[in-house]
Amino acid sequence: MTGEEPRATDCSEVLDHLYEYLDHEMPDRDSDKMRQHIDECSPCLEKYGLEQAVKKLVKRCCGQDEVPADLRAKVLERIDAIREEDCGPGSAEGRRESGAEADR
Ligand SMILES: [Zn+2]
Repeated sequence: MTGEEPRATDCSEVLDHLYEYLDHEMPDRDSDKMRQHIDECSPCLEKYGLEQAVKKLVKRCCGQDEVPADLRAKVLERIDAIREEDCGPGSAEGRRESGAEADR
């Protein structure tokens, strides 16, 4: 119908499966979709960077791959906060409003 689909995967979908992606717990086909979305979507890229940073930190400090549950919860909380800021509805519409002024 519209013919153009900017993103095959939803931001929320990507974030929901972020840990599976980082842990390589998902099939190649799915992880390809994830990477594609993250490449195209800067808010997700930011979050992805955040997650990777946490994993690296944990590995360096604790010498383990597993992210402790409480730290994981904290990161997910933070992601929720970012998600509301960046992926909220209307962030893409903001441009249209400023353009309306040029109508005059
Ligand atoms: Zn996204």
